[in-house]
Amino acid sequence: MGACGPTGAGSIFVMAVAPVPYSEYTDEQKDIIAMVRQFADEQILPNAEHFDHEDEFPQDIVDQMKELGLFGVTIPEEYGGMGLDLTTYVMIVEELSRGWISISGIVNTHFIGSYLLMKFGTEEQRQKYLPVMATGECRAAFSLSEPEMGSDVQAIKATATKLDGGDYELNGQKMWVTNGLRSTIVFTLVRTDPKADPPYRGMSCFIAEKEPGVSVNSGEYAGFTVPPPLKKMGYKGVESTELIFDGYRCPAQNILGGEDAGLNRGFQQMMDALEVGRANVAARGVGIAQRALELALRYSQERRAFGKPIAQHQAVAFRLAEMATKVEAAHAMMVKAARLKDRGQRNDVEAGMAKMLASEYCNEVVEDSFRIHGGYGYSKEYEIERLYREAAFMLIGEGTSDIQKMIISRSLLKDYKLS
Ligand SMILES: Cc1cc2nc3c(=O)[nH]c(=O)nc-3n(C[C@H](O)[C@H](O)[C@H](O)COP(=O)(O)OP(=O)(O)OC[C@H]3O[C@@H](n4cnc5c(N)ncnc54)[C@H](O)[C@@H]3O)c2cc1C
Repeated sequence: MGACGPTGAGSIFVMAVAPVPYSEYTDEQKDIIAMVRQFADEQILPNAEHFDHEDEFPQDIVDQMKELGLFGVTIPEEYGGMGLDLTTYVMIVEELSRGWISISGIVNTHFIGSYLLMKFGTEEQRQKYLPVMATGECRAAFSLSEPEMGSDVQAIKATATKLDGGDYELNGQKMWVTNGLRSTIVFTLVRTDPKADPPYRGMSCFIAEKEPGVSVNSGEYAGFTVPPPLKKMGYKGVESTELIFDGYRCPAQNILGGEDAGLNRGFQQMMDALEVGRANVAARGVGIAQRALELALRYSQERRAFGKPIAQHQAVAFRLAEMATKVEAAHAMMVKAARLKDRGQRNDVEAGMAKMLASEYCNEVVEDSFRIHGGYGYSKEYEIERLYREAAFMLIGEGTSDIQKMIISRSLLKDYKLS
């Protein structure tokens, strides 16, 4: 751990807590993490309060991220990306989230989209989308949820029906689509065989194209409408929207993996993507928790009560010790989940554990930091107020803790079934 810079209520220069010994990582990983941390310190943290308050899209920061190549971290070099692994990616997300969670939200669904293309896309689909995604020119969104379902993915209602001539027509409503407006492509799960039993065997993922930033699409994208962004308690600046498909035509070649290999394979594709998505949300939880710890370390040594800094009251010091331990544990679980996937192994259980642990710990650490801040923690003048609103989202996105427990316990009871 190292302390740096001036302090004060509005200052972003607080104790920087390095949650891991760098020696565990390659030189390339150390360099890129140091670069992203500096970017977060210099460009994100000083501006996050403004963008949050105004609920404004951070265009300047996004432009700089494009220059740094952060939209193509895991995209192979042959398609113009950096070709880095999931472990490096989640550590980057941790740093971005330490700066401001909405910044990681802007790259998150984009990253999931590129993962889907790399793993399941046809070569033609990869050639078409990955190079423009690597530069950030084309941004991706990911759409499972609907107004009447989120956890129960097999209950989706949106459909795609094959028309004479070979195109598909999409109809239905999607919900909570992060980057729903500014994206150019949306990986959208719909029913293609409503009679399939079980239902997951009749679902496909379409790469639905549209005009970025346009609410009511026309011409070749007619029938694809993006209503105004949903109003949220936190996670501001990045839009979350509904999507309405009403007679939207999509060519068969936009089925992820092509019609032959991809039709009715969408559920498995999306579930695979959620495994990397969950490691990614774990990283976001760690980043927020780490920042909350940093703020608490500073405040508790500055604020005095009963004649001494509050950090010298054992109850506060012990709280700090518990917070730091939770940050370390969540980070370690996140790295384990990512490394398994990088080795080509399934990580559904570990990603579920990492997501649950990091999101629950994130909320506990943020609440502890909030308590340490006393009344000032309730003031919009202090950063912890924003973190308090943002941490709650970690409990929901990419599956609630209940859903992670279902995944983990199902696997346990299968692996340790009594004969
Ligand atoms: C800001 C934000 C951004 C989002 N971005 C996206 C996105 O980009 N793309 C996307 O597709 N979705 C997105 N989502 C949706 C998110 O994934 C869902 O909200 C989440 O999966 C939960 O679904 P739900 O809201 O329908 O809750 P429900 O599924 O209705 O669950 C409600 C409650 O019931 C519990 N529950 C449900 N089933 C069970 C069960 N079997 N056992 C025990 N408890 C259960 C849940 O844990 C929860 O506590 C986003 C959501 C938010 C808030």
